[in-house]
Formats: sequence, C-alpha cells, structure tokens
Amino acid sequence: MEKRMVEHTGRFLRINLSTGEIRTELIAEQVVMDYISGRGFGINYLYQELAPNIDPLGEHNKLLLLTGVLAGTTAQSVSRWMVYTKSPLTGCLARSVAGADFGAWIKFAGYDFIIVEGKAERPVYIHLTSDSCQIHDARELWGENTVGTQEWLCQRYGKNTRVACIGPAGERLVKYAAIVTGRRSASRCGVGTVMGSKKLKAIAISAQRDLQLHDPAGFKQLAKEQIELYRASKSFHNWKDMGTTNTQDITNKLGIFPVKNFRYGQQTDYKRIGGEEYRKLRIGDLGCYSCSARCSKVHSGRSTPYAGAHSEGPEYETIWVFTGPIDNTNIEATVAADQLCDDLGLDTISTGSCIGFAYELYEKGILTKDDTDGLELIYGNHSAMITLIKKIALREGLGDILADGTMRAADAIGKGAEAYAMHVKGLELSGYEPRGAKSMGFNYATSNIGAHHCYGYARQEVFGANIPRIVDRFAEEENADIVVYNQDFRAMIEVGIVCSFVSNWEWFPRLFGKMLVAATGIDRFADSDYLWRVGERIVNLERAFNVREGFSRKQDTLPQRMLTEPLHTRGAPGEGQMVRAMDKFLDQYYELRGWTKKGIPAPQKLNELGLNYVIRDITQHHSK
Ligand code: SF4
Repeated sequence: MEKRMVEHTGRFLRINLSTGEIRTELIAEQVVMDYISGRGFGINYLYQELAPNIDPLGEHNKLLLLTGVLAGTTAQSVSRWMVYTKSPLTGCLARSVAGADFGAWIKFAGYDFIIVEGKAERPVYIHLTSDSCQIHDARELWGENTVGTQEWLCQRYGKNTRVACIGPAGERLVKYAAIVTGRRSASRCGVGTVMGSKKLKAIAISAQRDLQLHDPAGFKQLAKEQIELYRASKSFHNWKDMGTTNTQDITNKLGIFPVKNFRYGQQTDYKRIGGEEYRKLRIGDLGCYSCSARCSKVHSGRSTPYAGAHSEGPEYETIWVFTGPIDNTNIEATVAADQLCDDLGLDTISTGSCIGFAYELYEKGILTKDDTDGLELIYGNHSAMITLIKKIALREGLGDILADGTMRAADAIGKGAEAYAMHVKGLELSGYEPRGAKSMGFNYATSNIGAHHCYGYARQEVFGANIPRIVDRFAEEENADIVVYNQDFRAMIEVGIVCSFVSNWEWFPRLFGKMLVAATGIDRFADSDYLWRVGERIVNLERAFNVREGFSRKQDTLPQRMLTEPLHTRGAPGEGQMVRAMDKFLDQYYELRGWTKKGIPAPQKLNELGLNYVIRDITQHHSK
C-alpha cells in the first residue's frame, strides 16, 4: 500500500438521529485507492450500507454529505460538495451537487464526509465543530425559510459558521425539495426531502481554516499555475463576465431551448430573455469557496410586481425553467421565482417542469379552473407560476399534487396526463431538448439518477467542443461512445467534486491529477488512465445500485413525446427531429459499457473493475 495521504482527513462522521449516537469512523485505505473521495466515497458507502428496496423516506435511508479531496485548499473551483442518498422522487440513486462554502467547512471540521442515518422524533439540527458534534432541538426553527434558518444559526454560532438546511418544502416532504447553503443548493432528486423525513432542519458547522497537504510547496505552485491558466483563458473571462446567464442565447439559436413542455426548441422573442437583459438587472456577483470565476450573478427585480425580488442567480437551468415551459418572457418574474425556490427549498428544474406540465394539461382541458383553485394557467401568465411555486412548497390545492413530481402527478390526475409528463425514471428533464442534442438526450435516458444534464453533459453539442472528437448532434447511431465518455469523465472529475464549468477547460484534467498527487502523496493519481478507471468504476457501481432496486433497460428511455412527435424549432436547425433509434443506441451503449442487453453490468466487467462482490447482489437480475 502506498503512503497514507494526509489531505484526506481519512475519517467520516456517522450521526444516528434515531439513537442519538455520534461516532467518527476511519476510511479504509483500499476505499481511498479505489474511489479517491467525493462521488466515489458516496456510491461506495451508499451501496455498502443501504439494503435494497428500503423506503427512501423511512429511517433506513441514509444521507451522505461529501467533500472532495481538494476542498478547502487554495486551488480554484474544487470546494463544491455533494449529497448521495436514495431518491424519494425516482426510487433510484440520488446525486446532487452544490456550491458556496459548505464543502470546505466539512473538511475544516475534520471530515471527508458525514453520514446521517435514522430519524429524529421531533425537529432537530446538528451543530458540528472540529472537536464536538451535538444534536439540538429545532422546533423553534421548523417552518422557517432557508434565509431565516441560516441567519438564526449563524447568529448563534458566529461568523465562522456555515449552514446547510431545508425550507418549508423539505419539511412537507415535497418530493423534489432541496438542501440550501448560502443561496446555493443541492437540489436535484429530493435530497432535501430525505433530510426533511429525518426531521433534520439544518447542519451548522463552525470551524477554522486548517488543512495539511502532503507537499504544500508543490501544491502552492500548482495553485499558482492554475490561476495563471485561468487568467490566460478566454473561457474563464467569459465565465466571469456572464456565468451561465447567456447560455439561453446559444440554446435558442441551436433550437434546443425547450418551450411549452418540450414542444418547441426555440422561444418566440427569445432576445427578451437574453444575457444582456439579465445584465441590466445585475447588482453583483458571488462565487463558491476559493473560486475567482464568481459565476453567480446576483439580480434584482425593478418593476411592479417584482421590484425588490432578489436572487443569486438565476443560472441557466432556472432561467430556462421559469420562461420556456410556460412561454414567459418577463425575466423579473424568473428572478422572483428563483428567489422563492431558494427561500422555500425547492429544486427549480423539477418545480418549473411540474408547472409547465400543469399549463399544458390546462391547455388540453385535462385540468380546469376547478382543479387549479381558480388560477388561469394560460401561457405567458407568470403570476400564476409564482402562486403555484408557493402552493407546491406548502402542498396546497393543485400544488399538493404537483409536489410529488410529474410522474406521480400524472397518475393522480389520470385522463391521459402521463403523455405530458416529461421525466426519465421520475426525474424531470433539464433545459436541453433531446431531439436537437441527442447525446444529451441519450445521457438523460441512461443516467443513473434520471434526466439530468450534469450526469454526462454533452459539451460537444452545446458549445461545439471537439474533445474527444467533433459530434453531429442529430446523429443517433454513432455517438454511444460520446455518452460513455461524458458520463465517465464527469464521474472521474467528481471524485474531487470539481466544478463542472471549469473542469471541462482543456488543461484542467492534467492539472487535476498533479494536484491530487501534491495533496495526497499518492503518485498513482497522476495517471490519467487510473483516474478514468475510477470514473468508470463509479458509474458501474451506481448502475449496480439501481439494478438492485429493480431498474434495467426498461427505464432507460425518454418521454414518448421525444420518440413520437417531431420537434418544432421556429426556423432554428433541427425542425422535425425525433429520437428514432433508442433501441439501437442502447444496444451500442451497453456493448461499449460491457453490460448485458438488459442493461446489467456483466460479471466480466465487474471483475475487471474490482467490483466482484457486486456480482452476487445482481445475479438474480441477470437471469430475469
Ligand atoms: S465557476 Fe461558479 S459554480 Fe463553479 S466553483 Fe466557481 S463560482 Fe462556483
């Protein structure tokens, strides 16, 4: 075994809310070698510790809050954090990433990650420092929004405190509730719902910056090199200037900006929601711990009724989801919607998608004013959208049905509503039209968390990147390798929970390996083949987790609309596109992955990845 790393804390904290037991445990060295940290630790421990088919909202589910190995260092953009659990929205794996400072603070407290298990009898919060951890009564905080909760805890514990908490949506078990820290959130897959089910209102960490590195001088030099590369990079300056607030300019031009519940790929008058319009509302910018890109653009509404609305964001997905789905071009309403979701603790993508779904049902007559508490869900009506966000968070009226996500809401509503529910495995789609960006669409179909862009972002299709090669975004039968590449790349880089924006810049992967070595002293981490193999191992173990939960080829698909209705792009490229070769794609994708035709990792592949122990768990699924 190589020299033990010092940058890892080498330990994690286990907190059981049923028994009140709190203990520190060591991370086995083999686990470090196989998974490095971050997402690798997440799936390793979740797979090992969760029995199959448990209730995601029951006391046997666990919530893992993870940092990456470089978190809290002076390196740029490496201090994001991640949540792993079983999703109450999808019933499969949940992975959700957030920014701000909280990841660095987990590390400063002395841990690589925290496992919360069990269920408290009444609302509690956890206060963690580098030498203590206590569970406190949170009845006073229950019902408070995420801003009030964070202010209350920071006032109590002082300025070196960072908080991750849920809002009213998590308390009410809205199935796509978020965990919020600062104004950033781990929002996908219902991770805040799981936290709410444990009656855990917040985790507050008070800690001083204090880290040890294997080679401090070498690391300092690499961090300096990284800053120089940032400064010389056009991408960095674009990012610093706009963040993602102008991505909709690109996606509308490409015809992949989903409008009216994924019927159109371009919004009429899309210049009214463009980056330069957002610039007019901008009042500042913010960033995550140790990131000079500061890509969070802060906006404030100026006109009635949104004057004073204020949000850190919206970023691209939120810009899209509160405009396209309901055909709204009032960006101040989008800012207000973003603020509401952050305050109430909601995932913006699922919230806006559920609302877009309801608008289409209203247009089709499946929902009427009697069902909507008198709201007129007519395209362009942003005021009804704002009302619906509150109703979802508080589970009132139609909001109570939409709070369970489009898949369950369609079941509850009936009358053919499922044809308009845009989800994969129960997770609502991100803001890229699969028929015009097919590698992105196939990534949605095969992602182990459901339809999420970050699981394997197809940069080649949105930004024209030529790594590993140029991609025809309309091709269906020749891009399985790109989907595999994008998914494995993301898994690899997320062992350090590196920001998805900067990790794609050409030079980053090379520097990442060197930083891992300087931080840990483990030379093998400089080997890019080794890192790729870790990424592949993670994706395979995630897949095995889902197989054990009963998922297979049947769930690797896209909404019927993408398979049967032509896309309309209003003059942009891609008019008439559909996904016609899903089965062929899956055959190719599974073959490349070394999986069976049913989408189950084959024993040979699992052996090759050192995942032999998984074979016995999923044997029964091979024979089905
Ligand atoms: S680029 Fe933006 S999201 Fe990424 S680490 Fe920096 S501030 Fe955070």
